[in-house]
Amino acid sequence: MGLSAVDLEHLRRCVELAREALDDGDEPFGSLLVDAGGRVLFEDRNRTSGGDQTRHPEFEIARWAARNMEPGDRGEATVYTSGEHCPMCSAAHAWVGLGRIVYAASSEQLGSWRAQWGAAPSSPVAALPIQTVAPDLAVDGPAPELAEELRELHERRHRLR
Ligand SMILES: [Zn+2]
Repeated sequence: MGLSAVDLEHLRRCVELAREALDDGDEPFGSLLVDAGGRVLFEDRNRTSGGDQTRHPEFEIARWAARNMEPGDRGEATVYTSGEHCPMCSAAHAWVGLGRIVYAASSEQLGSWRAQWGAAPSSPVAALPIQTVAPDLAVDGPAPELAEELRELHERRHRLR
């Protein structure tokens, strides 16, 4: 489908949330849940610094959607996220029947940035693309417009370690 101006606007909010997370000692990731009418229903950002490594915003969104939305509405909703869903979040997204995913940076980009910085892989989970985990999902991304800002946030996070 490609990215529209509205998609980019939502992705910019995800990047803001990622920045908030970083400033608060968490990993720089942020996500939004947007309904078929374009309303933002829920937003969250990474909260793993407390020691629970499953506290990804995309996972939180899947659970929020399961509790608060009818199945038909979930399928028409879009999840925007600063970094491509990990396999855990891709699976949760698919299991609760959410719709399109739009990401700003791919897992492949994140991996190549980390490799440039000489960082060890940060994840014990394989960085499988969303559609390897959930083949029927509509997925768009990355957004080249936001790559530099995200690269900078992730580099800051890397330097803090
Ligand atoms: Zn995840």
